[in-house]
Order: sequence, then C-alpha cells, then structure tokens
Amino acid sequence: MKYLITGGAGFIGSHIADALIARGDYVVVLDNFSTGNSHNIEQLVGNPQFEFVQGSILDLPLLKQLTESVDHVLHFAAAVGVFTIVDKPLESLITNLRGTENVLEAAHQYGKPVLIASTSEIYGKNGSGALNEESDRVLGSPLKSRWSYSEAKAIDESMAYFYFAEKKLAVRIVRFFNTVGPRQVGHYGMVVPRFVSAALKNEPITVYGTGSQSRCFCHVADAVTAVLMVIDSDLTLGEVFNIGNDEEITIEALAHEVIDLTRSSSQIEKVLYEKAYAVGFEDLQRRIPDISKIKKVLGWTPKRSLDVIIKDIADHLK
Ligand code: UDP
Repeated sequence: MKYLITGGAGFIGSHIADALIARGDYVVVLDNFSTGNSHNIEQLVGNPQFEFVQGSILDLPLLKQLTESVDHVLHFAAAVGVFTIVDKPLESLITNLRGTENVLEAAHQYGKPVLIASTSEIYGKNGSGALNEESDRVLGSPLKSRWSYSEAKAIDESMAYFYFAEKKLAVRIVRFFNTVGPRQVGHYGMVVPRFVSAALKNEPITVYGTGSQSRCFCHVADAVTAVLMVIDSDLTLGEVFNIGNDEEITIEALAHEVIDLTRSSSQIEKVLYEKAYAVGFEDLQRRIPDISKIKKVLGWTPKRSLDVIIKDIADHLK
C-alpha cells in the first residue's frame, strides 16, 4: 500500500512514516518544514519505499498530483503548538482550514481514503472530567487565538465527516490528546520536551500558573499503534476516535518527576501566565481523554508510562 503523509516530517507524522515503512508499505511525505524537520526523516532518505516532496498543503495542484499517485492519504500537516497559534493566528487558521479543505477535495477527486489528524483542543475548556467523543465543546471568544485554533480543527472534522456522509468519501478522524515522545521539540510550547531539555541542562524548569493544572501524556509509539489500527479497520469508517493516555498528572508533579528521573539539579520556577503567553491567553485546568471507544472497537490501550516517555525523550535529546 502506498500512503501520502502530509506533515510527514513532523513529530507524529514522521513516526507514522517509520512504522508504515517498517511493515513494508510505501510512503510519500509532503512537508514544508514549517514545524517539521528534515532530521525527523533522515533515517528514511535513500530507502526505496520512501519519497519526500517539499511543499505545502496550500498548493492544491501539487496535492492533487500526489494524491492521485497513492492509495491512502494521512493528513498530519497543521499549524501546531500553543506558541505557533498565539504568534501566528491568521497563518494558523489558513493552514488548518484551507489546507484540510484541499486535502479533502483532492482525496474526493481521486476517491482515496483519508485520515484526518485532529486534536483534543476541539473540546476547548470542557474540564468536566474524562472527555469522550460526544463530549461538548466549551469555547471562549473566537477572537482569542486558542479558541480560533479549536474552531478551525473542529470545522476540519465537520468537513471531513460530511464528505463521508454526503459524498461517501472513506474518512476516518482521530483526536490526539497531549502526545509526546522523541522528536517533539519545545519551541512551540509543548511542556514535556521543554521540561526535559531544561532538566538535562540543569536550567530552571518554568511551571506556568500554579502548576495545579493537569494533563495526560501519551507516548507517540502508543499513538502510532492506534493510528495504524484505525486506518486498517473498516469499523472506523466515518468515525472519530480519541487517542491518548488517561493517566493524569499535575504540571508541578510532572516537573518533579522530570527532575528526579534525569537526576537534575534544576529548580522549579513559577511563571505568571501573563508573562508566559500573550495577554488574554487561557490555559486549561484539566484535560483527560475517555478512551473507552477505541478500546471497545479496536482493543487498543496505551502501554507506555510517563516514566518511559520522559526517559525516551531524555535519551533522544542527549
Ligand atoms: N506549561 C508549563 N511550562 C512550559 C510549557 C507549558 O507549565 O514551559 C504548561 C502549560 O501552561 C499547560 C501545560 O503545561 O498548562 C501543557 O502545555 P502544552 O502546551 O504542552 O499542552 P496543552 O496546553 O496544549 O495541553
């Protein structure tokens, strides 16, 4: 099988490319290196099962040409990371809306199945507990960059879903919750690589706000297994699945765990939200995935603990 992975030089996309090639599939990666990186795919360069095309999902003729040449499209290209969204809200919106529209149009034109990578950000600030695929979206003003990102990704999902419902396009959607692991970088805001990188340099670890906010972190290797199970199954057509780990930890506890595991002498430094992000930025107090649907339909559960995640990121950064 030949796959097109948009954003295949990015953090999750490149791990998907590795996994598909390892099982004998062919992969074409389309990436413009906006947040992706050539290092993420350097191990694949020269592999006869691999092809790289530098370009954008906003280039519809290129996207169509590549879509025609493959059997299946996996859409991972997006503007990602809290810092990217806050710094470049308009560019992020255009990439996430027009880019996905292009991917769906090309997939529909050539009748190719397509997986849309979405995000737990679509739930907004719904902090009511474990979020299942039907949980409500709770958003602030669309003029705030975080919520405009949430809007864009949610519209991507709606558009994909109605291509399935109205035009019979083979669509699948996955929502990633705080996926972390080797190759993820901290420049765009992601907390775990930021903490591990600071710990390895014995530099201060910056906890934003009180540190009582919590998240659940899923190892990218577990997430990749889930994605392959989703794309390989007919039970997943026209469906959306949460992918995440439901073990919850506060950000302050995460900072201590990172310091302990890396045997670092870093100190924890609390930073006010106003200093960390642009004015008006809202953080989420809690975000926990309900993963019972993917467990029930496909039998997937995450296998790797937070300690394994931290160790793998530390090994990668060293
Ligand atoms: N965070 C932090 N220090 C950092 C980066 C992030 O305390 O250097 C916090 C951030 O405010 C949030 C949590 O860690 O409460 C997770 O942030 P991330 O951007 O990784 O994920 P998201 O907020 O999108 O879940």
